[in-house]
This record gives sequence, C-alpha cells and structure tokens, in this order.
Amino acid sequence: MRKLIAGNWKMNGLTADIAEARAVAAGLAAAGGKADVMICPPATLIARLASALENGPVAIGGQDCHAEAAGAHTGDISAEMLADAGASAVIVGHSERRTDHNEDDATVRAKAEAAHRAGLLAIICVGETEEERLRGAAADVVTAQLSGSIPDGDPGRIVIAYEPVWAIGTGRTPTGDDIAEMHHHIHRHLCDRFGSAGEEIRILYGGSMKPSNAAEILAIAHVGGGLVGGASLKAKDFLAIVGAAGGL
Ligand code: PEP
Repeated sequence: MRKLIAGNWKMNGLTADIAEARAVAAGLAAAGGKADVMICPPATLIARLASALENGPVAIGGQDCHAEAAGAHTGDISAEMLADAGASAVIVGHSERRTDHNEDDATVRAKAEAAHRAGLLAIICVGETEEERLRGAAADVVTAQLSGSIPDGDPGRIVIAYEPVWAIGTGRTPTGDDIAEMHHHIHRHLCDRFGSAGEEIRILYGGSMKPSNAAEILAIAHVGGGLVGGASLKAKDFLAIVGAAGGL
C-alpha cells in the first residue's frame, strides 16, 4: 500500500509560504517516488496552492468543512467550496477542532459525509488524551470515536489519522509498541466494519512526527503514512519525512 504523507499547516501560512509548497513539489517532481503527498494549508491559500501546484505530485486538502453544502453559516466553508477551490481531501475531527469548537463524533461524521458528497477524501482524526491513556482507556476511546465518526459511505475515500492528543505539538510520541498496538486495533475495527475494503484503508500516525523519528514510525505494521503538523511547514523537513515513506 502506498503511504500518504499529509502536511497540516494549521493556522499558519501567508503568500510568502507558497514558496515552501513549491519547493516540496519540486523536490518530488525530481524524484518520482512511491508515496502520496498532500499539503493542507489554511483555507485562504487553498486556491492559490492548487493553482501553483496544478498537475504536480502534491495534492491539496482542507483542514475542516461544514456539514452542509451552502447556507447561513457565517465564517464556515463547505466541502463543495473546498473542492471548487482545488482540494481533493479534507481533514475532519482534528483534536483541535474537537476541543476548540466542541465537535463531537456525530458532527465529525456529518462532515465526513459532506466530504464524500463533494467527492473529497475524508481524513478522519481520532486519538486519546493523556489522561485517557494513563487510565487504560485509550483503545475504548478510539473505538468509540471510530464508531461514531466514520460514515457508512465509500470506504475507498476514507483515511484514518490516529493522533494521540498528548503527542500533538509536544515533541512526545508513543512507544513503537503502543503505536503498533493502536494501529492494529484500528485496522481490526475497519476490517470488522468494512470487510476486505477495510484492509485497504490507510491509517496515518500523527503527533510530533519529524525527520528523526519518521522512518521508525512509518515502518510499524499498519502505519499507512503520517499526518504532520509542525514539521510540514518547512519543505526540507517535510521532504525528509516523505523520503522516509519511500516518496523520494
Ligand atoms: C497535527 O496537528 O495533526 C500534528 C500531528 O501536529 P504535530 O506534527 O505538530 O504534532
């Protein structure tokens, strides 16, 4: 299975940063490697990145979408708008959305359904807090998130991102054994729900992935790629992670 390395720029990125995305595309075009690569910039840059990187090796994704296609929702952006701007995917249920905007599993599921309605790949994020891990509830928490957040629709347009909340932006990562155990658990869940199609669903790891730990994490069974925050902002670091996924 080809790995997917997706960069989540979060609320970072101005016109000057289009150069970083161009540098990623140039690094890949020269190599023609064996991984899929995506950048999810802030909404303000989606159309410009899509046009700057058109027909190249880097796909563009959104970071969130509204569940409805259009309407009176000031400040929100629909999946159809993301597609219209040139995105082919959208992240839904990121822990920062779940926390900052009180998004629950039903909301995340509705957003994933909206992504499918608009023809986008839905990257659905799950992950436990540190408190949940310490009390031994990580697997149950993730199971509940998977059950509540994944729509019944097309499993071919679903990617799961396992992101332990306590590892995001902290420089801390779970042990390799803990990542392996959780990815196996998620894989089993997807196979139970979707049968053989579940086998093909990529499960990304996210949380302080960087050039120095990417190869080790990406080699773990059922790790189908990475969702990369901080280390995706500089082309050099992001390309090093793509290289660790076989993409260079
Ligand atoms: C993320 O926010 O999706 C993420 C993984 O962030 P970081 O790589 O900075 O921990």
